[in-house]
Amino acid sequence: MDADLKEKLSALLPGKVHFDIPMKDYTSFKVGGVADCLVFPQDLEELTRLLNLIGDRNLPYLVIGRGTNLLVRDGGVRGLLISLSRGFREMEAKDGEIRVGAGTPLSRLLKLAQTQELTGLEDLAGIPGTVGGALTMNAGAGSTQLGELVDSLRWIGANGEAVPVKKESLNFSYRDLELPQGTIILGATLRLNKGNREEIRSRTVKNLLTKKKAQPLDQPSAGCIFRNPPDQFAGKLIEEAGLKGVRVRGARISDLHANFIVNTGEARAKDILVLMDLIKEKVSQKTGISLIPEIKVIGED
Ligand SMILES: Cc1cc2nc3c(=O)[nH]c(=O)nc-3n(C[C@H](O)[C@H](O)[C@H](O)COP(=O)(O)OP(=O)(O)OC[C@H]3O[C@@H](n4cnc5c(N)ncnc54)[C@H](O)[C@@H]3O)c2cc1C
Repeated sequence: MDADLKEKLSALLPGKVHFDIPMKDYTSFKVGGVADCLVFPQDLEELTRLLNLIGDRNLPYLVIGRGTNLLVRDGGVRGLLISLSRGFREMEAKDGEIRVGAGTPLSRLLKLAQTQELTGLEDLAGIPGTVGGALTMNAGAGSTQLGELVDSLRWIGANGEAVPVKKESLNFSYRDLELPQGTIILGATLRLNKGNREEIRSRTVKNLLTKKKAQPLDQPSAGCIFRNPPDQFAGKLIEEAGLKGVRVRGARISDLHANFIVNTGEARAKDILVLMDLIKEKVSQKTGISLIPEIKVIGED
């Protein structure tokens, strides 16, 4: 990134533009090379200013949340990464609906729902990351996927126009939401049901405990690596292929949950990618099933 552009970006959003950022410090996997530029716009006005400059200079960009579903390759990321995780945190509950900004941690949304006695989100307890990331990934657990609770989204398209989008026009599927290229989700309105505060609290605690027992939450990871194939569990297929505990340098298939790869401290993205290829190959050999990654892999080798 040339000096002139760096200066323009810094002047545009003082204190919110960071250059040459090691992505291992900004992802839950704690791996990844250096990103040219990571920007944290606070609100729509700042994001719009940034998108105008991006449009004028024709710069490549990608939006991220808290990096809990990301694997950044070792060569890092060229262009701009935009994270909404330090702004866009508005939350308002009214008449069974919650309007929430994309940068809000999912855990804060669950807390608000509980205090407002609104039920529906409890299965998602313990999923890290932002609401924006959870919407894009249609994050889910138990019998809930976030997309089912969406009444409308607000997003800004590549043309720089912020628009509301009703649920009828949204195509959520398993761990996915179809988004036009370059779209940035700004927030959502969720429709929830009236519930009992104590019941909501106890379901949330129960789900957190279940997650703690079943997943290696004390080690860096990006959650489940592969999607579950129809009527199957990827973790079970990986375990049955005898792969629990297998490692490539610092990357290791968790003993607790075989669909988690954990970074034991010194993993590179390459180690994780090699391990993913090994898993795909062995599971395919044994079952004929071709596993599809759930995590998003970005950046250069
Ligand atoms: C320990 C652990 C447990 C997990 N458990 C679960 C689980 O039970 N269920 C589950 O579904 N997931 C789980 N995950 C995965 C992850 O937490 C979720 O996918 C989460 O919703 C991602 O949010 P994020 O803010 O970190 O998004 P990121 O990882 O930063 O981004 C994910 C994707 O969303 C896009 N994106 C992010 N924000 C926006 C935005 N505002 N507009 C447009 N695109 C955007 C990014 O480009 C990227 O493609 C787990 C992860 C960990 C580490």
